[in-house]
Amino acid sequence: MKATSETPVSASRVDLHMHSTASDGHLSPTAVVQRAADRGVRLMALTDHDTVEGIPEAQAAAGQSGIDCVPGIELSARWARGVVHIVGLDLDVTTPMLVEGVARQQAERRRRAVRIAEQLARAGISDIAERLERMAQGVPGRAHVARALVEQGAVPTVQAAFERYLKRGRPGYAPVQWARIEEVVAWIHAAGGVAVFAHPLRYGLSRGALRAAIQAFVEAGGQAIEVANGGGGRDDHVAAAALARRFGLAGSKGSDFHDPDFPWIEIGRLAPVPPDIPVVWERFSETLAEHASG
Ligand code: AMP
Ligand code: MN
Ligand code: MN
Ligand code: MN
Repeated sequence: MKATSETPVSASRVDLHMHSTASDGHLSPTAVVQRAADRGVRLMALTDHDTVEGIPEAQAAAGQSGIDCVPGIELSARWARGVVHIVGLDLDVTTPMLVEGVARQQAERRRRAVRIAEQLARAGISDIAERLERMAQGVPGRAHVARALVEQGAVPTVQAAFERYLKRGRPGYAPVQWARIEEVVAWIHAAGGVAVFAHPLRYGLSRGALRAAIQAFVEAGGQAIEVANGGGGRDDHVAAAALARRFGLAGSKGSDFHDPDFPWIEIGRLAPVPPDIPVVWERFSETLAEHASG
């Protein structure tokens, strides 16, 4: 076969990472589930940032569509001076420890949104707070601020909003005290869930720093890593699979779908987990044998 820089993607029956309007996605939980079903996904997880608000709606829609939807979340976690994302899957979302932890994260997000709006006002962009009210139907994130900046005309695209205003060192950057990796993994475990180290190649960490972050995750009891992710190319897929083997982690796959207008990240368009790596969905509380091939 000809060598290619493309990821060997295929229509996947399993997709365990996607977002809805409960956080920074563009589609309602119902529309996300319908899109997954239409694209041939049989086992999905809705994994909104620091919230499980969308889960009941997603599960009802999954019941209608005849597909399986496990309750999930994507938690931001502090590690050294950086941030990593930990996906929790197959959760009991009523677990008090998880509920309290998520409430803490959400309070941090709201506090940060106010600070970002204040900082942008000082930089001469004055009406972001009001726009943000409309943009964020659920838990607020920087993506909502980015959309407010586009609507206001300050920047042409969401990407430019991150580059000029929202990333570290820019006028609209405000730090967040996320919970530590050990804490978020403990919440996931308390809720009976499985912890997944999300999109390992997307943090811009050096190889050594990335390995140290995964080591901290493993020591906290983390069980899996996203081997296939919608955003990466073939090199990322190969590197993520090598990390799964090196740390003895199960493999997950998730598109990280947010927006139908970003067609390069689509639900169910994912490379396979290599056959020597155990798949994370075999660890779910109910054995979902029919999904074995992914
Ligand atoms: P937050 O968790 O609120 O700090 O925001 C992180 C989210 O912003 C990610 O999950 C992405 O959805 C989005 N994001 C981060 N960087 C970019 C970027 N450069 N362009 C577009 N979206 C981005
Ligand atoms: Mn996001
Ligand atoms: Mn993420
Ligand atoms: Mn995500």
